[in-house]
Amino acid sequence: MAITRMTVIKAASDADYRKGQDIFLIDKRIRNFETDINTLTHTPMITATVLDADGTEHETQVSIDEEESQIIGSLCSCPDFYQAQGICCHCVAILLKYISRRHIQASFPAKI
Ligand SMILES: [Zn+2]
Repeated sequence: MAITRMTVIKAASDADYRKGQDIFLIDKRIRNFETDINTLTHTPMITATVLDADGTEHETQVSIDEEESQIIGSLCSCPDFYQAQGICCHCVAILLKYISRRHIQASFPAKI
């Protein structure tokens, strides 16, 4: 199993999922998107700068466990982060981007 859209839908409130989907699909407000492997846990760590509609930047980070299909941790500099039920819309946005990229990589293997 791997992280899917369903994992993200379950992790966020409906409103935050919709906002995150807009950020990713419609407005494309994700910058500096990077994926690293956490050297301690050997699990993927996604980082990005996510912009609000007014241009406010948020540093966003999500750690995931692909085998367990779980979101291990999330961190965001937005004011909603500590109040949101589940993960905030910025974390949703970078997770959706991660999932879509992984799908592209899987369907189009690199030419040698
Ligand atoms: Zn946030």
